[in-house]
Amino acid sequence: MSVLETTGRDLFIDGDWTTASTDERFATMDPATETEVTTVAAATAEDVDRAVTAARESAPAWRSKPPAERSRIVRAVADRIRDAASELAAIESRDQGKPLTQARDDVADAARYFEYYAGAADKLEGESIPLDEGSLNLTTREPYGVSGQIIPWNFPLSITARGMAPALVAGNTVVVKPAPTTPLSALSLAEICSDAGVPDGVVNVVTGGAEPGAALSAHDGVDQLTFTGSVPTGEAVMRSAAETITPVTLELGGKNPAIVMADADIDDAARWIATGIFTNAGQICSAADRAIVHESVYDEFIDRIVDQAESYTLGPGQDDPDMGPLNHAEHFESVLEYVDVGLEEGATLETGGEPLDRDGHFLRPTVLSDVENDMRIAQEEIFGPVLAVIPFSDREEAVEIANDVEFGLAGGVFSRDVKRALNVARDVDAGSVYVNEWFGGSVETPFGGMAKSGIGREKGFEALDSYSQTKSISVNLGE
Ligand code: NAD
Repeated sequence: MSVLETTGRDLFIDGDWTTASTDERFATMDPATETEVTTVAAATAEDVDRAVTAARESAPAWRSKPPAERSRIVRAVADRIRDAASELAAIESRDQGKPLTQARDDVADAARYFEYYAGAADKLEGESIPLDEGSLNLTTREPYGVSGQIIPWNFPLSITARGMAPALVAGNTVVVKPAPTTPLSALSLAEICSDAGVPDGVVNVVTGGAEPGAALSAHDGVDQLTFTGSVPTGEAVMRSAAETITPVTLELGGKNPAIVMADADIDDAARWIATGIFTNAGQICSAADRAIVHESVYDEFIDRIVDQAESYTLGPGQDDPDMGPLNHAEHFESVLEYVDVGLEEGATLETGGEPLDRDGHFLRPTVLSDVENDMRIAQEEIFGPVLAVIPFSDREEAVEIANDVEFGLAGGVFSRDVKRALNVARDVDAGSVYVNEWFGGSVETPFGGMAKSGIGREKGFEALDSYSQTKSISVNLGE
């Protein structure tokens, strides 16, 4: 089967394609046309067990490979992702719905994760800790063993790469469970890994929904869990990990504040915030969900952000518009419902709010003004192209509004005064804060949440801490 084949993909276990134990399959749909792209195998708990067994059996050989060799193999994965970039982007765009340009960026990020972490493979050094004369202490960094990775549908390929690359480099083997509505790119990645020299059993992919996800998080052969998704599912994963005392990294949702100070460049702020909330149709955990805008520039900001919103072209991802459809029907209904909730709560619809009159899950970029922070649309993650604009009168109030949510994933400050911006940035409770930009940082910078946005950090060198554990060895040198 070709790496980029999308028809009839099976599970990838122990280096081979294999049907699900029940032979059951399910369809993955094109969100732009609501037609079937293909079917994939529906993994059961039994299939997850096969995948975990393969990962366990391959773990000793993988962890004992010289780090430089692991590095070369992981680097080869990056090269092959780049070789297949156009086809991978086409698959991702069709399966997820995102514009081709954004899918290409995701593929480039996926390659960068493998490249970046390949360079770290032979730099996972321990320490020697000074004690008394008769003692020597050494620390070593060791892999956990099998890493179970549960992936959401908004960045299927790049989030899979984000977890898989550091896990492999640290010497773990991996079982990935992609989201049921976007399984295709993870299957392609599994085959790319195999072609690049990742040994059989080191990377396994089991497709399906909650059943294999729950089976993976409860499996006592899994030594570490990485979950990216919603808060309720994250809670379930953590509860289940507690039964086996398995460490978890949770990357959950956000309701991220973008503070626009009175002295901000309003054009610039509106452009960044439009990018922050309308990229990937707002289906981004770190989207700019709430614009918190000084009352003196509130009307001007609304004019500019509405101009931005109305300039977006919409269409199937493969036509490379500015914005594609929402990923699936149930989610589309939920986002539309939030627009109604906002209007019932007393918000004003400045633009958008309407689905396109065509097949597919298309919602125009939507701006709601006159929002108060205790409204549901200001508190709950909508995960769609819906911006809530909230006024404030002084800096303390801006920070209070920014932090008055249960999340703490990302935030942003727009101001021409860098001192003021930095002081506000320090006060915002979030794992990432952007100053005069949005989606700052990259593969090299740690990313994760405070409060209910999660536990642990992905990306950057720090992510390697999530995939390795420290052993302290003490030696008696006393004579
Ligand atoms: P989700 O929680 O519904 O599903 C995530 C994954 O968990 C899917 O693979 C799903 O099949 C699986 N799953 C479902 N039930 C399960 C169970 N009981 N046990 C184990 N796994 C189970 O999330 P979603 O709708 O796919 O993604 C959207 C959410 O992801 C949003 O809340 C978004 O903010 C969050 N997200 C966070 C980040 C981040 O890095 N912080 C990145 C992307 C998305």
